[in-house]
This record gives sequence, C-alpha cells and structure tokens, in this order.
Amino acid sequence: MIPEPLRASLVQAAREAREHAYAGYSGYRVGAAVLTEEGLIFTGANVENAVYPLGLCAERVAVFKAVSEGYRAFRALVVVTPNGGAPCGSCRQVLWEFAPDALIIVADPQGRVHWEAPLRELLPRPFGAADLTNGR
Ligand code: ZN
Repeated sequence: MIPEPLRASLVQAAREAREHAYAGYSGYRVGAAVLTEEGLIFTGANVENAVYPLGLCAERVAVFKAVSEGYRAFRALVVVTPNGGAPCGSCRQVLWEFAPDALIIVADPQGRVHWEAPLRELLPRPFGAADLTNGR
C-alpha cells in the first residue's frame, strides 16, 4: 500500500525523469521512479543508442541507479509511458531479483494512472536465484 501523497510524488518524479529520455530512434519516451524500502526515490529515463540493442529501459536505469548506491529493497516502481504501455519482460525480471513484492504503477505523461499490479502478477513463474542452485 502506497499512500496517496507518496504515490503522487512517485508519478511526478517519473514524469520529470521522462524529460531526460534519450529516445530519438523510437520516439517512445519513458520515465521511471523506484521507491526504496527506506523511502528514497531513484529515477531513470530510457537511453537509446545508434546500436539499437545497447539502449536501456527507464525502469532498469532507475533500479540500477538505486542498487549501485546501496539500495536493494523496493516497494514500488512507477513508469510513465506515452500510452500506458507496460514494463517489458526484461525489466520485470530485473525488478524481481530485488523486489518480488513490489507494486508496479503505470501512468501517462499527464500523470494519470492507467493501471497498477503487483509484480508477482506481471511475472508469473519467474526465474530466480533458487533456480540456479537447484539446477546444479
Ligand atoms: Zn524494459
């Protein structure tokens, strides 16, 4: 449960992060904001590249920024997409590594929330650390 003032702050942070999207190839500008268990917010924007596969989604930029600064537990991730588009499978998997109980909230550039769902619903039967150890 994310209280409304905090939820609004996350949406706004993701909207502001989207302003820094480097998405000239696709034109699909995305911003993300992840909320740590400690209450901090880390943001990211998608960063594309002329070598297309090298680009990175806004969600992973936000998560990697947080993890690289020592924060590994997350309560929620807000993503702002042009049309309410969902986080891709790769981002769901990356978030699962750190926060299987996170809430995903999808909003548009005007700040309207289109939908939200627990990560567990968005990534059924995920691959996790236990799969590596059980397979040896
Ligand atoms: Zn993604």
